[in-house]
Amino acid sequence: MRPRMTDPNRSLLTLRGLDAGTLTSLLDRTESLLPVVRGVAQLPRTDSGAVVGLLFLENSTRTRCSFETAVHRLGHQPVVLTGQGSSVGKGESLSDTAANIAAMGMQALVVRTPLSGGAALVARVTGVPTINAGDGRHEHPTQGLLDASTLRSHLGSLKGKRILIVGDILNSRVARSNIHALTTLGATVVLVGPPPLVPWVFAECAPQIEVAHDLDAVLETADAIMMLRIQLERSAGKSVASDYRAAFGMTSTRASRLPEGVPVLHPGPINRGVELDDEVAADLARCLVLEQVARGVSARMAVLERGLVPALST
Ligand code: ASP
Repeated sequence: MRPRMTDPNRSLLTLRGLDAGTLTSLLDRTESLLPVVRGVAQLPRTDSGAVVGLLFLENSTRTRCSFETAVHRLGHQPVVLTGQGSSVGKGESLSDTAANIAAMGMQALVVRTPLSGGAALVARVTGVPTINAGDGRHEHPTQGLLDASTLRSHLGSLKGKRILIVGDILNSRVARSNIHALTTLGATVVLVGPPPLVPWVFAECAPQIEVAHDLDAVLETADAIMMLRIQLERSAGKSVASDYRAAFGMTSTRASRLPEGVPVLHPGPINRGVELDDEVAADLARCLVLEQVARGVSARMAVLERGLVPALST
């Protein structure tokens, strides 16, 4: 099957290499679409006729429902395929699955897969604008955008801010996308966690990336803190000691040391009592997880618009 060529700017496979202007315009659009998500504004009613294929071949709660909501809000139709119950269970490959769904006439594809690089593979094989919804350890670009949007609205500009990302950096696609977005927008990112999950080599990647293995030593330097889950499904549990919470958890004692106005983020799902205490998660002035989720829908609308509008106007 010969793929159609598509404009690479209509796909979103990674945040790496997006310049500050492109990121800022996506964040501006995320902000302007937020009232639609909150139900206080409406987009003009359109029934575009566009169909978006959502291939979710790895577990997901927020990202899948968020993309589905975004597709509906824009007046398009989603078609959702999950790993369970699909022919992936019979051994069908990602590229065959994607090529078959694309052949049904999708205007865009959204892909979650355990395969690092899987979203780029789908874009290549199908020639259809493709949005990466999390591919293995590689990237989760719309999560990076929604996190940057949440941080920007809370902190104002990201220029010169210190953002701590704490936990399983090695296996985290969320960390990778955030590193690209936040450093491009002028922040310093401090990666914090046990040495096997936060190797020193990360600090060699860019001057705005620091590595720390002692959370308490850097806690009070933070303008914001993002807590991450240990990626047990990627075997990270083997690298974690039983005192993980004491060393790297956002306990209520640690949260009480943070100046007012220093927010705590988490992409979900939260393992309560491990990386985040119940009391911290319940403090909605401090813990912005639900704000992140709301902005996730408008960020995905912004990304889908970029992928779909040229297709619909030609
Ligand atoms: N939901 C995020 C992801 O899919 C974070 C996580 O699962 O820990 O990467």
